[in-house]
Amino acid sequence: MPVIPPNKPYRIGRSRTGLGLFATKPIKKGTKIIRYVGRLLDCTKEKDDAVENKYLFQITSRWTIDGSMRSNIARYINHSCKPNAESDVRKIKRRVDIRAIKDIAPGEEINYDYGTEYFKEYLKPIGCKCDSCEKKRKKLRAAAREEKKHSRGSAENNAGPKPGRRRLNGHKANSAAPKKSKTLSTAKGGRSKRFS
Ligand SMILES: [Zn+2]
Repeated sequence: MPVIPPNKPYRIGRSRTGLGLFATKPIKKGTKIIRYVGRLLDCTKEKDDAVENKYLFQITSRWTIDGSMRSNIARYINHSCKPNAESDVRKIKRRVDIRAIKDIAPGEEINYDYGTEYFKEYLKPIGCKCDSCEKKRKKLRAAAREEKKHSRGSAENNAGPKPGRRRLNGHKANSAAPKKSKTLSTAKGGRSKRFS
């Protein structure tokens, strides 16, 4: 694991998807947290354009940062759909800084949004594991459970054929709650940031 100087307000730690970057001190909204560093790739050069890894951060159609070396601490920052930081891309200087867009408390994981293209390509197929999406899933599961409970309740009330009335064939009480969707627990989000 790369060594982080003690004056920095973050550390690398376990997160839902593997490793992540966590605040160790309060970080004020607007503060630059860390720079996304690495070798600059020039996509007009065949050799550079051929580089493929999970840590590519595209700045312009021509320039991409290869942030795959371990000294690039920013590569540990995970995606979130409701992030507390953002990537501040300066095209002319070809620099990317990660900046807080909310006050971040010690212990909180630092996240930024990797962008729509990345989401569609890598996260949607396996299910995004960010806090916001996990919360949404939890809510849906709870609602499904409620619905199941209710439909079971009304089924009990109507149990048994009523005297003098034929049972309707093929009429089910509210169809069963949707099955839990499968989520891949082993998939570690690929992080080609070409699209962010
Ligand atoms: Zn998400």
